[in-house]
Amino acid sequence: MRKNIVAGNWKMNNDLAQTQALITDLKAQTKTTNAEVMVAPTFTNLYSAYEALKETDIEVVAQNMHFAENGAYTGEISAAMLKSVGIKTVILGHSERREYFNETDELLAKKVDAALANDMRVIFCFGEELADRKSGNHEQVVEDQIKNALFHLKSWDYKNIVLAYEPVWAIGTGETATPEQAQDMHAHIRKTIADHYGYDTANSVSILYGGSVKPNNAQEIFGKPDVDGGLIGGASLKAEDFFAIVNAF
Ligand code: PEP
Repeated sequence: MRKNIVAGNWKMNNDLAQTQALITDLKAQTKTTNAEVMVAPTFTNLYSAYEALKETDIEVVAQNMHFAENGAYTGEISAAMLKSVGIKTVILGHSERREYFNETDELLAKKVDAALANDMRVIFCFGEELADRKSGNHEQVVEDQIKNALFHLKSWDYKNIVLAYEPVWAIGTGETATPEQAQDMHAHIRKTIADHYGYDTANSVSILYGGSVKPNNAQEIFGKPDVDGGLIGGASLKAEDFFAIVNAF
């Protein structure tokens, strides 16, 4: 049975005091569903967030990492470093990383390998741009992103892979894919995995939707059969809104 997951991506928001305040607010919320809950603070706040949340069932995850174990990569963070401060899951391939930091499918394949080699779980993000959707090319674009970055993996690697479909045109824009658009794409993603690895693997992988999920639309989106949760940006910065989404299952 695949897991329902709701992960909050805090991006480059919140200094130490603000992060601690948000965590205090999160701890005051009640989770009523079986969804796994994760939050991704910025690197400087990972350890304190991990310490503050380690006795709870909210997992602290990283927003990015480098593929090398260590070395001359100024400004970068390795999987081993993340693990040394308690982090076991990393978001890779977010559209902001792809767009502003030129992360390609080939680079992301290396990052995925490094994370898996360190026994970390990966939330792998991908999604089409508006022009792709308008030209009707969105399924092919998404298929290619998955194939290029993940199809060298073995089927058993997928126990540590979570997929996050995030149409770029819906991220931070207030524009959400309709529940039907999300379901159609998630079904296509699952079929893409099934065609290569078989349905046992495809049915075991959680596929999250991301893109302007809010308390007022989460229930309808999460109600679709191939949507196994969400990656939440803006709405994860307020504990009440985030937990309204968590409890939308
Ligand atoms: C994201 O950045 O992953 C995201 C989904 O952002 P938002 O919820 O703000 O659209």
